[in-house]
Amino acid sequence: MKRITILGSTGSIGTQAIEICDKHGIRIAALAAYSNTELLAKQAKQHNVKTVCIYCEQKRDELQTLVGSDVRVLTGMEGLKEIAAMQDVDIMLNSVVGMVGLVPTLTAIEHGTDIALANKETLVAGGKLVINSAKKNGVNIYPVDSEHSAIFQCLQGNKREQLKGIILTASGGPFYKKTKKDLENVGVEQALAHPNWSMGRIITIDSATLMNKGLEFIEAIWLFDLRPDQIEIVVQRESVVHSAVEYMDNSVIAQMGVPDMKIPIQYALLYPERVDCPTKHLSLADYGTLSFDRPDYDTFDCLSACIKAITIGGTKPAIVNGANEVAVAAFLEGKIKFLAIGELVTKALENVKEKDITCVEDVLDADKEAREYVRKLIDERDN
Ligand code: MG
Repeated sequence: MKRITILGSTGSIGTQAIEICDKHGIRIAALAAYSNTELLAKQAKQHNVKTVCIYCEQKRDELQTLVGSDVRVLTGMEGLKEIAAMQDVDIMLNSVVGMVGLVPTLTAIEHGTDIALANKETLVAGGKLVINSAKKNGVNIYPVDSEHSAIFQCLQGNKREQLKGIILTASGGPFYKKTKKDLENVGVEQALAHPNWSMGRIITIDSATLMNKGLEFIEAIWLFDLRPDQIEIVVQRESVVHSAVEYMDNSVIAQMGVPDMKIPIQYALLYPERVDCPTKHLSLADYGTLSFDRPDYDTFDCLSACIKAITIGGTKPAIVNGANEVAVAAFLEGKIKFLAIGELVTKALENVKEKDITCVEDVLDADKEAREYVRKLIDERDN
């Protein structure tokens, strides 16, 4: 029986992963959540989990009361690291949101635990460190992101050296075909209305700005050892073609399915097995038409910023990511307008200086500097 730990268990990916674990008899060794003590306690009870972590330290006592005294309650980054370092665990699902995910991923890799990766920032900011360490420790990283799972699936059974490039699909988000002028006054609710996928709030905003696709572009470079010019981004409005790969003979192989994260989650957890999955059958005839288009790089400047960042390299991807996290939080709080997210990310890309990455502190410092830079710009706007 496989044993798993789940970081981010109360989120959209975490709850769906638990459903997959239930269905296929995967044992849960530990669970971690950001602040949702009630759901975390319920999950721990239902699955007889004896180690839990709540990231918000002030929620510790509340959680301990809910789970009872025979469950060990950890907190903060130290708690996440302790779970990541647990022995006799086959795979750790990292589905936390944001830069917080980087250090636990590195810790698990150092302890020889395979990773099911749903935390983009792990590779966006720390790609070089993570991939090098995974190689050194013989650890597998299984992508959970639907696009990267699709690419990973399309690579099975073919020769990696015969790969020409990949086609990374994007839904286009709620603001497909809109101009900057149309987007001047869009509110939080409009930005949160994604046409195809049901996800957490931050990733949904990232999908509206296409930052999410930019982060996925960077993620793909590290996961599949690609150059930026080997990736073509294509808008696939229905989110049925989850991405594709092209081989030297110009043959393109795509992976398709209904837009449901349970398929990529299950593939990552059970790889290489393909068994019954609690999701709908894809009926192509019901769709009738699938549409493809080019992305609008001018309107969606976050996407352009990410591509520039990984082309420059070093800590630039960590800088655009840190800048975006602060800008999205400010947008959700009603402090800045929607278009300001792209402006702030672009300014951080241009003005926060990058350096080479030699250790994790380089990444964390760049992230901190970018956050401070954007916070300062936002404060200046307020005054
Ligand atoms: Mg995705």
